[in-house]
Amino acid sequence: MIRILTVKTKKRIETVDITKEVRGVIYDLGVREGICTIFVPHTTAGITINEGADPDVMRDFIDKLDELIPLESDYLHAEGNSAAHIKTGIVGSSVHIMIDKGEPLLGTWQSIFFCEFDGPRERKVQVKVIEE
Ligand code: ZN
Repeated sequence: MIRILTVKTKKRIETVDITKEVRGVIYDLGVREGICTIFVPHTTAGITINEGADPDVMRDFIDKLDELIPLESDYLHAEGNSAAHIKTGIVGSSVHIMIDKGEPLLGTWQSIFFCEFDGPRERKVQVKVIEE
């Protein structure tokens, strides 16, 4: 069974910490040992795991991506959102986390971030938990 999380983004580019929501799915399913796959079914939004303790880390992440892949360039894609597609390709569309004793095995400073690159929009995140 696949659980769907809804993420309503507020800005064109932002990261949204969805760790609590993912943890909620694992608790809800009552899985003690297994694997959790989180997949973003969009071409202009992705997902990554990084530091959640200091918000400046993700701010730097977004700002540097913007610097490397500017909104305007000599892109061919007529829709005008090539930068968002490229950022999504770099960040990726899925992450996988092991579950141990009912908890996602994240490092002390790690959080799961939904990455919006062409918002604001309402987005879907698919969460699949496989019990071992
Ligand atoms: Zn496009």
